[in-house]
Parts: sequence; structure tokens; C-alpha cells
Amino acid sequence: MTDVQPSHSPLFSTFARADIVFERGEGVWLETREGRRYLDFAGGIAVNSLGHAHPHLVAALKDQAEKVWHVSNLYEIPGQTRLAERLCAASFADRVFFTNSGAEALECAIKTARRYHFVNGAPQRFRILTFEGAFHGRTLATIAAGGQAKYLEGFGPKVEGFDQLPFGDREALKAAIAGPEVAAVLIEPIQGEGGVRAVPTDWLREMRALCDEHGVLLVFDEVQTGIGRTGHFFAHEMTGVTPDILASAKGIGGGFPLGACLATDEAAKGMTPGTHGTTYGGNPLAMAVGNAVLDVVLGEGFLETVRRTALALKQGLASVVDRYPQVFSEVRGEGLLVGLKAVLPNGEVVGALRGEGLLTAPAGDNVIRLLPPLIATEADMREAVSRIEAAAAKLADAGALKKSA
Ligand SMILES: *Cc1c(COP(=O)(O)O)cnc(C)c1O
Repeated sequence: MTDVQPSHSPLFSTFARADIVFERGEGVWLETREGRRYLDFAGGIAVNSLGHAHPHLVAALKDQAEKVWHVSNLYEIPGQTRLAERLCAASFADRVFFTNSGAEALECAIKTARRYHFVNGAPQRFRILTFEGAFHGRTLATIAAGGQAKYLEGFGPKVEGFDQLPFGDREALKAAIAGPEVAAVLIEPIQGEGGVRAVPTDWLREMRALCDEHGVLLVFDEVQTGIGRTGHFFAHEMTGVTPDILASAKGIGGGFPLGACLATDEAAKGMTPGTHGTTYGGNPLAMAVGNAVLDVVLGEGFLETVRRTALALKQGLASVVDRYPQVFSEVRGEGLLVGLKAVLPNGEVVGALRGEGLLTAPAGDNVIRLLPPLIATEADMREAVSRIEAAAAKLADAGALKKSA
């Protein structure tokens, strides 16, 4: 443990940090300065898609670091063209804009949607429909899109043009989408921060049809769900519904800051020279790592293996839920984006799991997220399940004691 005193820290106090310092990682494991090992099922919140210190990623980064770190987007960056070509070949998209983060990928998605209508002669169409429980990032526009009061409070007037609808309310969407100012619908196919809440497939289909009927663009936020997290390259592939624009980040860089906005040629047609830009986005180091991530994730049989190990994890968790109904009530999610709905406060459970040497991440709706690296084996899943079981047994005992006292 550390001797850092938060009240004397020179850092903004925006994060409630656990008192742990990790010094190194390897695969699914993280190790503290003091040598304590943790099974990392938080993955930097769905970022370390290939675990820690993956040899192929380390080699790609080192190799690029010895050539050139950064050049401006005023010049050709071959790694960008290559990564964009591969992302397009593996998805619905024809075009890509690279960013450094998820929120920036969303900013690009929002701007792309608005510009599309602008160049179509409908500049009045700028409103974006979003859904309750959403999370799209922490910039001024993306907190407006997410619509959560706790993230908006104190930051001045909410950025104009975002209308939040109740999650799953078909009638509300039907009424709102007919508005003359609507540019796009923005949704996470599975809400991550919101508590691993999947959008029912039939509702996504209906949403696509409504968008087409009203000339509205459909934007998917796959920052958390994309790049193999669900056992599919993008989560929407399971639904058969494709978007016009998509924001990706987190797992795409495997730990190197990288995001991407993907779009069809048609949806991207307003993004002409000078309309958007970035200094770091698509930098050669990020491109080297992004391409290395795809070498692995798009490799023969990789996603199939993810689906199989994910099933093993889910089955193990289902049995823990059955045996400890005082602690957990439900397993949800897809692939390796797994939510355990807690009966006890989720923060308490995350702490207890950390006590067993297992890192997880809390989410809304009193859910604990398990986001293991995609390279986790069935043995790693069994190890995690046995640690969850150990924590559940202790929490259940403590609860029984409290009750009898
Ligand atoms: C994490 C996340 C974001 C924001 O990404 P940052 O890299 O933190 O800006 C946006 N949308 C979703 C769904 C996310 O999970």
C-alpha cells in the first residue's frame, strides 16, 4: 500500500482512487510494488484487450518507437491507411477518422452526423436522440449526450441539441424521431457504464427502420463493446443491424490511447478538407499498436475462442449466483462484457473481490462488470470464479452475522 495522502496530492481530486500502485503486468495478471498479484478482470475498463505486456504489442510499439513517434496529419501516415483499410474490411464502414479517446471519437461522430445534414441542405437538422442510462464520455458535448445530471452539474448550460429518451420506450422514439430537427439517433448496443444493459435486437431493428424512414442517421457507440469484447468484432454484428456511423476506442489500442470514428461514404460526405482535425489522432505509435491489436483479434479462430471462454465464465458465474442469492441476483452481458447484478451495494462487492485478488469495475444499476482480457483462458475463468465464490461466501457469512446480531 502507498503513503499517498489524497488531501495533499497535487492531482485534481476527480477520482476516488483505491490505494494500490501497480508496477508491472503480464497477461491477465497485475502486480503491485509490494509484489501482490491481482487477476485483472477490469482491464483498465475494457481497454487492455490483449492483457498486459502482450509480446506482439510490445514489439510493435518498440519497433515504431525507433523509427518515428509523431508526424503531423499534414503528411501521409501509412499506418493510418492500413488500419483504416482493415477496420473497413472488417465492418460496415468505408471511412475512418482516428482520435486519442472515446469521447473524441463520439465528438467526431456527432459532428459527422450534423455535417451530413448540413451538406444535404438541411442545416436545421442537428438534434441527436440519446437514451437514459447512456455514457458517451466527459467532454461538454458527450456529457450532454449522456444526459446524466451528476456529470452535467456545475458545468454551465448543457450543450444544445441532445434529447434523452427513456431506454426501450418505442413510442417515445417514434414521436421524437419525426421531429424536423433530428439529425441522428445515438446508442450503445449494450450499455457499459449503465450496467451492462443490452438493447433488445428487435428494438434496434425498429430503430434502423425508423431512421431510414425519416432520413435520420444511426450512430452506435461501440467504445466499450467493440473490437472483440463481445466475441464479435463489433457487438452490433450479432443483431444484423448496421449503423451509419460508429465510435470505437478502449480495446482498439490495447492500452495505447486510440479511438476511431467509422462511417459509410454517404454519412461521411460532409467531412471535407478543413472541417475537422486533430494533432495526435492517428499518430504512428498509436497506428503501430492498433494494427498489432488487429493482427491478433482478427486472427483465425480468435473470436471463436473468446466466445467459448466467455461461455465458461458465464456458466461458472451462474452457479455462484445460484448458490449466493444474498450477494448476487443475475449474470448478464455478451462475450467478455459481463455484468453481475449485486444484491449488496456493488462498491462493497468490488472491494471484497479486490480483497480476494480480483479486479473488477462497478457500473450503474448496482452491477459489477467483469472485463477480462480477450486472451484469458478457461483456467483463468475458473480462477476468477473461485475468487468470486470465496468473496461471496465471506459476504454471505457477514450478512448472516449482521442479521442474527
Ligand atoms: C469509456 C466510454 C466512452 C468514453 O471514452 P473515453 O476514452 O474515456 O473518452 C464513451 N462511450 C462509451 C460507451 C464508453 O464506455
